[in-house]
Amino acid sequence: MTKRIGFLGLGHMGGPMAANLVRAGYDVLTFDPVPAAQEQARKDGATVVDSAAAAAAGRDVVITMLPNGKLVLDVYADLLPAANPGTLFIDCSTIDVADAKAAAARAIDAGHRALDAPVSGGVAGAAAGTLTFMVGGGADDFADALDVLQVMGGKVVHCGGSGVGQAAKICNNMLLGISMIGLSEALVLGEKLGLSHQSFFDVVSTASGQSWALTSYCPVPGPVPTSPANNDYQPGFATALMTKDLGLAANALRDTEVDGQLGLLAAEIYTRFNQTQAGKDFSAIVLDIRNRSEQEGA
Ligand code: NAD
Repeated sequence: MTKRIGFLGLGHMGGPMAANLVRAGYDVLTFDPVPAAQEQARKDGATVVDSAAAAAAGRDVVITMLPNGKLVLDVYADLLPAANPGTLFIDCSTIDVADAKAAAARAIDAGHRALDAPVSGGVAGAAAGTLTFMVGGGADDFADALDVLQVMGGKVVHCGGSGVGQAAKICNNMLLGISMIGLSEALVLGEKLGLSHQSFFDVVSTASGQSWALTSYCPVPGPVPTSPANNDYQPGFATALMTKDLGLAANALRDTEVDGQLGLLAAEIYTRFNQTQAGKDFSAIVLDIRNRSEQEGA
């Protein structure tokens, strides 16, 4: 039988994800407090209900795609008592590992099942149904969720137990943030030393300094024509979201007492940049490094 789905949080990501489930033939009840999000969901063919609890009642699967962990825990307080026993809760939001574990534990205590399943791939991946899902939770629940996740995603990876999906997400994004800062420093140093961006790219893209940040997402215009640098740093992946993810990674570094000096510094650097450039793509950090280098050199 086709699963009955409840979907909460119809923003930039959740809206198109829910639309893909509707297109695939699932019976989807949706809820979001914002009228514009409700209107778009109706246009996409979803049924919009008037409370979180109503989106969970009588469903086989309840998916949340919300801005932060506090909201996930608050919304779960409404959802868990309203759902049928044994409902599978899948939280796709990017939140603290500790909040993800707490949300899953509360769902299980209430007689349900739970997975954390954050995503990468951005708004374009949500619209195209090509997101990567990083899933934490039990193997049986993962197997049960697979058909639904495969509608919204191109790649679905079972990373481990509860909270480990979030762990994969923040480890990857911490590395990406560090890597983009390091690459940008190297590019600006190259500029100062007379190395053109194209020559830098031609050497480093096949040398030991190679990275995804350089070869797929080069932060200066030219070498990779599809990168946001060629489009005035329109996101892409906004600085606000990178700052949020680095904050989650910093929390996890502190909780686990890992000596993550670069992760903590990357969180600091992006927090400062985010104060003025939250809406720019995170690769625009190269402009900040260049500006600060000019000020310091003046
Ligand atoms: P968004 O702010 O566009 O959407 C969040 C939605 O949640 C909003 O429409 C909001 O009205 C809704 N909401 C708030 N309270 C609610 C409630 N009580 N019940 C139901 N809905 C409620 O955010 P987004 O960009 O869609 O991101 C969602 C999550 O996905 C975040 O955790 C983000 O970090 C993560 N994420 C985003 C991207 C991206 O590129 N935007 C990529 C990967 C992961």
